[in-house]
Amino acid sequence: MSALYLSQVLRRQRGLILLLSALLLSVSSFIASAQSTIPDTPPAPGSAVSIPFNAEAATETYLASLSPEARARSDAYFEGGYWLLFWDFLIAMLLAWLLLGTGLSARMRNLAERITRFKWLQTALYGLQYFLLTALITLPWSAYEGYFREHQYGMSNQDLAAWFGDEAKGLAVALILGNLALIAIYAVIRKTPRNWWLWGSGVALVFIMFQAAIGPVFLEPIFNKFYPLADSPLKQEILSLARANGVPAAEVYEFDASKQTTKMSAHVSGFLGSARISLNDNLMTRGYPAEVKAVLGHEMGHYVLNHIYKGIVFIGLIIVIGFAFVSWSFDRLAASLGRRWGLRRVDDIAGLPLIVALFTVYGFVLTPVTNSITRTMEAEADAFGLNAAREPDGFAQAAVHLSEYRKMKPGAIEEVLFFDHPSGWNRIHRAMIWKAENLAPAAEPASAVTPSPP
Ligand SMILES: [Zn+2]
Repeated sequence: MSALYLSQVLRRQRGLILLLSALLLSVSSFIASAQSTIPDTPPAPGSAVSIPFNAEAATETYLASLSPEARARSDAYFEGGYWLLFWDFLIAMLLAWLLLGTGLSARMRNLAERITRFKWLQTALYGLQYFLLTALITLPWSAYEGYFREHQYGMSNQDLAAWFGDEAKGLAVALILGNLALIAIYAVIRKTPRNWWLWGSGVALVFIMFQAAIGPVFLEPIFNKFYPLADSPLKQEILSLARANGVPAAEVYEFDASKQTTKMSAHVSGFLGSARISLNDNLMTRGYPAEVKAVLGHEMGHYVLNHIYKGIVFIGLIIVIGFAFVSWSFDRLAASLGRRWGLRRVDDIAGLPLIVALFTVYGFVLTPVTNSITRTMEAEADAFGLNAAREPDGFAQAAVHLSEYRKMKPGAIEEVLFFDHPSGWNRIHRAMIWKAENLAPAAEPASAVTPSPP
């Protein structure tokens, strides 16, 4: 559920690279879908405030602004996602079995070895076959997941040709970046076959940082046009919010996400010098100004709280542990099944499907942990955004929009297992508590409240 270009890129790199980068990216996105039209005025809790303000009642009022049909629909969409997780996992396993069990992977390696004697080029040639073949085999599933299912729930603005075009671009990016990563990691595996998990983790992490750094400049523009947000009083407020919070943003960017999706979103992307805040045109055209400010406050929270850097530390830990598990289990499996699959040692590129499968198992089991890491950071950004933007009703409204694609009120365990962002109910509830605690004595809408000097 991160920036669209990444979902495009990542779907092409199932397994290893997917798990790594998805985590990084889920750290920096805030997506709300908007199928319904926005009412002309903000919902009741924002405009008719009574003292004492009852946060529980206001939360319920926001929830009641959604029809039972809308709730049922978004619950179905989101709960279907639990099954997608499972099917994605199963398909990744089947794919690995297909490549290994039929000896196809070994034949792909043999072909690469016949063409060149350079090891790095053999890796690249195998990678080329691997990325193309896996993209082709999983294309029907990708189409269901990314195109037909999105249309079924009214969340896509793309026709099939445009969707396919984005897929092709994603594949091209995967062929280049994925192959570069493979060449680097397999060079490390050949150098240190016993401790590759440690050094390889370093290489993988450097690669992820590189991808994050070039993202806003080279990757995102492949899929969408980014342009400075048109001048408006709202833009001035956003830039003021940035200055007030130490975000060095001289510019805020908008991008044309509406050509792909109905979802509202904004994200912080980039790394070191390339970091920037972008919001999509759906948010601009369909959100209240208070809502836009609330979302941008949240995004600035990611920036100020250094979530990109903290995310990289978490990813580093996850990769090291994951690679150690892969190294350990690869040696055992290859010892028993390697001959049948035509595999040599771990430095044999033909073993890539096994490495990807093992890492996928690890990532699948770890899902609640990675979700909880990102959900915790999202909650931090929420708290920051509420304090910075001071738009609790704008924030609650954003959560209502978001609820159209994310289940509004899950059970506590369900939220821990499956939610990489706090649930809508949680976000609205936090916003209403903030409002109750920050309400000025005068019964004014929150967006009109002027903070008193300390
Ligand atoms: Zn966020």
